[in-house]
Amino acid sequence: MTPRRLAASLAFVAFVAAAPSLAQDAPPLAERTAQTDLPLEGPRAATHIEHASLSISVDPATRSIAGRVLHKVIATADTAQLQFDLDPRYRIAEIEVEDVPVPAADWRNPDGLLTIDLPRAMRAGESALVSIVYDGTPHVAANPPWDGGFTWATAPGGEPWIATSIQGEGCDMFWPCIDHSAHRSASLDLLVTVPDGLVAAGNGRLVGEYDNRNGSRTFHWQARDPSNYGIALQIGPYELAERSYASRYGNEIPLMFWHLPGHGEEAERLLGELADQIAFFEETVGPYPFGDEKAGVAETPHLGMEHQTINAYGNQFRRDPLGYDWLLAHEFAHEWFANQLTHATLNHMWLHEGIGTWMQPLYLGWARGEMFYDAAMWENRKAILSRVPLVPPDSEHPDYGDAEAGWGTDIYYKGAWVMHTLRTLVGDEVLFPALTEMTYGTTDPLPGTIRPVNRTTDDFRRILEAHGAPDLRWFFDAYFYQAALPRLEVVQDGSTLALSWQTPSSLAFAMPVEVRVGDEVVTVPMPGGRGSVELPDAQTSWQADPRNRILMQDDAIDAWRTAERRR
Ligand SMILES: [Zn+2]
Repeated sequence: MTPRRLAASLAFVAFVAAAPSLAQDAPPLAERTAQTDLPLEGPRAATHIEHASLSISVDPATRSIAGRVLHKVIATADTAQLQFDLDPRYRIAEIEVEDVPVPAADWRNPDGLLTIDLPRAMRAGESALVSIVYDGTPHVAANPPWDGGFTWATAPGGEPWIATSIQGEGCDMFWPCIDHSAHRSASLDLLVTVPDGLVAAGNGRLVGEYDNRNGSRTFHWQARDPSNYGIALQIGPYELAERSYASRYGNEIPLMFWHLPGHGEEAERLLGELADQIAFFEETVGPYPFGDEKAGVAETPHLGMEHQTINAYGNQFRRDPLGYDWLLAHEFAHEWFANQLTHATLNHMWLHEGIGTWMQPLYLGWARGEMFYDAAMWENRKAILSRVPLVPPDSEHPDYGDAEAGWGTDIYYKGAWVMHTLRTLVGDEVLFPALTEMTYGTTDPLPGTIRPVNRTTDDFRRILEAHGAPDLRWFFDAYFYQAALPRLEVVQDGSTLALSWQTPSSLAFAMPVEVRVGDEVVTVPMPGGRGSVELPDAQTSWQADPRNRILMQDDAIDAWRTAERRR
């Protein structure tokens, strides 16, 4: 962005027109806006927003916003139109392409797909600056952070306390964007104007704070490689707790927590936890991906969300006998598994939630010991439903809110248990280097050279195999593409135990099984899904999978769940 354009943006946000009055009967969310990751096709697939500039003025009194984006758009194919996703509830006041106003007859947004007829067609490789001025009353989140939109809350001191959370619906809930997880701008300017006394805690680095001398202030943030749904507005009467973290990679990482007044001590405590988690992640996976910006947290009126470098935190500083704040740890894991490694399409969301969730027990084991790992894994195990495949086909658009299907819980808990099982199969010497390559695109990531990657589930399989894992198609098919969990059958005939795996997969499930025989543990190979072990005599006691290393169907857990559902 040139200085001239920045000045224009600032002038705009400082003198927004009177906002529309508070809508009494807000329209329902348009069908298109309610969805995210709709297939990239047509003009939307022919362009890339290389640099996104979003100036947004937030008026808590009328619960409205007035915004202007100034996007640097690059044509990736010849195109006569531009298309952006934008909630059609917003009034579009003006569109300019390269400073030339586009006649109102040449753009339309009836359903959330804003289409602009270009004054002159763009050829592949050409770029253009596109300005869109809009305003309106954003959709209010019914149940944030799971149902997306704006949360207009009041802090204990009476001040406005505002947050966006849009993961399920996408960026088009409050700005014109390309609402697809494979789309990411290289850089973002985010200018948020709020009434005096409030602070807008944003993505990336704070590069300016301006007193507009009209009762408002503008906070100017700059971020690189922002994930679409990681861009957020988080506004309140914030105070800041901060410290610096010396990374094992030699860089210094600012740790910053914007908290409500009176929560300074608690925020300081959580900054200590954040530092400990960075130490764990950097030892286990690789560098904190955004160390050149910050590790940031903002206290929010909803529970939490992995907003990039400014995680939403709403767990109210609750104490946990596990000795950590699970919400803080969960959202922070997403800096690696969501913001750095982003699913290529929505159906691979377990990569964010499952690997991220597994990082919590793994961290607990690292920080507190095996009992804490096992305790957290047991909680995860009880929550697994496995009624639908964890990864639906690419052609399907999973509804993660479908409680009956249970995707919305399985992507967390089954995902974590698949990682636990995978570790048993391939060993740490394969799993962790593969996880590093999966996350960064290299096994040797260094701060300053890290760019985000988009991944599918099958990418993970290929990377594991390249790192020395055996052919894993049977493992991936059984756990990701089939609904039912593998079931282990063990039949004793005299002193012989015959083991066999049952799965709906057409590929034999070849997961080796540890068996305790008396007071010894042996590993039984299961080629073709079958194996056997000879006991010293028929009376010797035995137990399959004595360390509970394999995710498998379990009669007792199923019976308990059935009974719980009936109650
Ligand atoms: Zn999550």
